[in-house]
Amino acid sequence: MDFDVMFQNQLDALKKEGNYRIFAELEREAGAFPQARCHNADAPEKVTVWCSNDYLGMGQNPAVIRAMKEAIDQCGAGAGGTRNISGTNHAHKLLEAELADLHRKESALLFTSGYVSNWAALSTLGSRLPDAVILSDELNHASMIEGIRHARCQKVIWKHNDPEDLDRKLAALPANAPKIVAFESVYSMDGDICPMQEIVEVAEKHGAMTYLDEVHAVGLYGPRGGGISEQEDLADRITLIEGTLGKAFGVVGGYITGSEALCDFIRSFASGFIFTTALPPAVAAAARVSIQHLKQSDQERLAQRERVAYLRKRLDQEGIPHMDNPSHIIPVMIKDPVKCRMLADYLMQRYGIYVQPINYPTVPKGTERLRFTPSPLHSTDDIEKLVYALKDLWKQCAVSHAVA
Ligand SMILES: *Cc1c(COP(=O)(O)O)cnc(C)c1O
Repeated sequence: MDFDVMFQNQLDALKKEGNYRIFAELEREAGAFPQARCHNADAPEKVTVWCSNDYLGMGQNPAVIRAMKEAIDQCGAGAGGTRNISGTNHAHKLLEAELADLHRKESALLFTSGYVSNWAALSTLGSRLPDAVILSDELNHASMIEGIRHARCQKVIWKHNDPEDLDRKLAALPANAPKIVAFESVYSMDGDICPMQEIVEVAEKHGAMTYLDEVHAVGLYGPRGGGISEQEDLADRITLIEGTLGKAFGVVGGYITGSEALCDFIRSFASGFIFTTALPPAVAAAARVSIQHLKQSDQERLAQRERVAYLRKRLDQEGIPHMDNPSHIIPVMIKDPVKCRMLADYLMQRYGIYVQPINYPTVPKGTERLRFTPSPLHSTDDIEKLVYALKDLWKQCAVSHAVA
């Protein structure tokens, strides 16, 4: 058996269809976001990052950095164990209290990432509740899909952002089965936002619990950064709110919030919570400061909104088609994996503009795209350079000007 040949064959197939992933090797420069040094041989040394999930630049916020450094000096580098065996640090408990307060829930539970929190919580709910059925929006994130798969309970897929379809599917299930409606607030590929109130009302009508992924909304929406559920004043009607500390909060980690009993249940039964080393206390301390900051400061959110609106306006003025949506995510549809990669390469090599091509399986085949996430730190000059480069590209390549 030549395993390497087997590996290579599949890699070759991926390359042939244009879906082979090439990473940009960056060195982010604290104090200079969104600029970074690039270590790819075929790219300029200085690049502007246009696809970061550190949406507000909190990863370079001086108070966040200071909190991380101070915690390292006080507690050392690592947590020292799993949460169960010597790893629960004071910083973890403080952060969990901060998160519970962010979503105005009784309790919160930390995980090593948002991916792990979705995987662990959904698989535990679906496997531990007898006869559970998970009703999943068809565009849910891979971490939710994997969690549901691992739960090995009955699963029903409902049409994306379609409360009527959800209603029909809930009505077809046995009245006494525990039902879990799993969905996201902001879907990060199209940047669309769910009709939360309608979904909540349908779930309530059928006695279902609601499981909401607010990963792309926490820190960004709502008066205190509590997400779309806070903005729409619906948080208290959602059973479980899940989020990340790695995107707008600029650090790393994931969490769930909900009732005391719910969080205690996941804490006690989720293998993905129990059998892994806790986050470093320094990470927890930094994340807490980031959350605290965004609870009382609107400045970053407002500046981001202004930058997003400005880039959209400039794209419109130059006739560069982009997907309309109510969020901070600006997708430019290319609809071909090879072209999408080519355009991204060109932007990087010729202009030092880094935007990762988004290809299958992240999005369906034929909907490949470039996806721009303006932050408060992108200057007008950065935006003008991007628009100029895209105009140049649009001229050179036979990309359709038809709006997606
Ligand atoms: C990124 C993402 C996650 C995973 O969060 P991480 O903290 O990056 O692991 C979960 N859900 C959605 C919708 C995401 O986009």
